[in-house]
Amino acid sequence: MPEGHSVHRTAKQFQKLFLHEPTKISSPQGRFTDAGLVSGQQLTKSEAWGKQLVLHFETAAIRIHLGIYGKWKFSTFEDTPPEPYGQVRARFQNQSHVVDLRGPTACEVIELDQVPVLFDRLGPDPLRPDPKQLGRESFIERVQKRKVPIGQLLMDQSVLAGVGNVYRAELLFRANLSPFTPGNQVPSDDLEAIWDDAVALMPLGVRTGLMLTRDGYLKGRPKKDDRYNVYKREGLPCRSCNQNVAIGLMQARKLYWCPKCQA
Ligand SMILES: [Zn+2]
Repeated sequence: MPEGHSVHRTAKQFQKLFLHEPTKISSPQGRFTDAGLVSGQQLTKSEAWGKQLVLHFETAAIRIHLGIYGKWKFSTFEDTPPEPYGQVRARFQNQSHVVDLRGPTACEVIELDQVPVLFDRLGPDPLRPDPKQLGRESFIERVQKRKVPIGQLLMDQSVLAGVGNVYRAELLFRANLSPFTPGNQVPSDDLEAIWDDAVALMPLGVRTGLMLTRDGYLKGRPKKDDRYNVYKREGLPCRSCNQNVAIGLMQARKLYWCPKCQA
């Protein structure tokens, strides 16, 4: 499942290619029956909050959540757009660009005044502009009032928006924190450090499309084997202490951690 950095990347692509452009919206597959409600309108804003993408048009917005199977395909064309193939839920098109959306969990038209309501239900997103620095306090408060493990809370979109399995594992490793620590027992200093780390690392993901989390490998395009500290490294020696990286299931999602560094 795409994590927040890739949703923010998509938001930026829409902003760059479609802003203030009349956009033809269709549903070649037929399932996005409301496409006609906004088709032909100008895109006035494209933004992401966590894993939610919202495309604002003149009279309504479209909310998209990719879920596990959702995928975007951006193409350019000169005279005629490429024929849609497969199950294209939504197609966005202007004079020279066409974007096909396949397999999302959600793609729906919502009222413009429902956008803040949607965002209100989500925790702070380390990738959103935060001029008053309210995100960090809000994150700490949301974690510390819960007794469930921090590993679970980092994936809870109402606690922290945008983080998924990769950033969860890597942020906890970088904080030397056991994923099993109950939220209300995690010291504020540790939570401050995790928030600040996410604020520093996730923009690299937006810029490069890669979830870069290893000191010394935060630039360029490190090979897959070099990219992560613990994610998908179960059974391999920890890069810091040589103990084998562990794997477990937490709420049916794979969890990776170093039992020694994150005791
Ligand atoms: Zn270790």
